[in-house]
Amino acid sequence: MSAVGAAVDREADRLTELDSAVGDADHGANMRRGFTAALASLEEERPASPGAVLALAGRRLISTVGGASGPLYGTLLRRAGKALGTEETVDAARLREALRTGVEAVAQLGSSAPGDKTMLDALFPGVEALGASGADFAAARAAAEEGAAATVPMQARRGRASYLGERSIGHMDPGAASSALFFAALAETAEASGVAA
Ligand code: ADP
Ligand code: MG
Repeated sequence: MSAVGAAVDREADRLTELDSAVGDADHGANMRRGFTAALASLEEERPASPGAVLALAGRRLISTVGGASGPLYGTLLRRAGKALGTEETVDAARLREALRTGVEAVAQLGSSAPGDKTMLDALFPGVEALGASGADFAAARAAAEEGAAATVPMQARRGRASYLGERSIGHMDPGAASSALFFAALAETAEASGVAA
């Protein structure tokens, strides 16, 4: 979560710029506000398990972000956290299953699917590429980045960008870009802590 927060902080201007082309130019600010609040709460409450960390971060995103991305990412993290339960350690395969559960919950909440030009176009390939071991973090990062790039020629079918119809074509979806940051942070963290495959 710290690494995601740092990436969001670093890339907030780019996320807002992407959202200015197809939305209302607040995605970077939304993400920064949400992760700043989430990290402050994690620091304060120091949850005892990985599951509790994700659940608390998810709750804070939901309570602090007004835009669509708050409830969507909040649901991803809350559901993933719940799937991990209260165990103190989590292996990569377990994490992958929890993330898959979280991503499916986003699709359900958003009534959306891959191909709609949303965050799901990076999230689904990212989770898939974690592989059977769940530890192919570098592959997941690459797949999420490719997924985000693949949203450029798509026409948006969900979210604000869908109001633009064909004019949404030719721009990367901001939520797909932030989802790629999530997997990049996961890969960097795994590499730094020596758990990468
Ligand atoms: P808002 O659109 O309310 O201003 P943000 O700008 O923070 O919120 O987030 C926009 C992103 O949220 C989009 O780029 C898209 O990836 C994602 N999004 C919006 N609606 C949906 C949906 N129904 N399903 C999945 N993702 C969505
Ligand atoms: Mg927006």
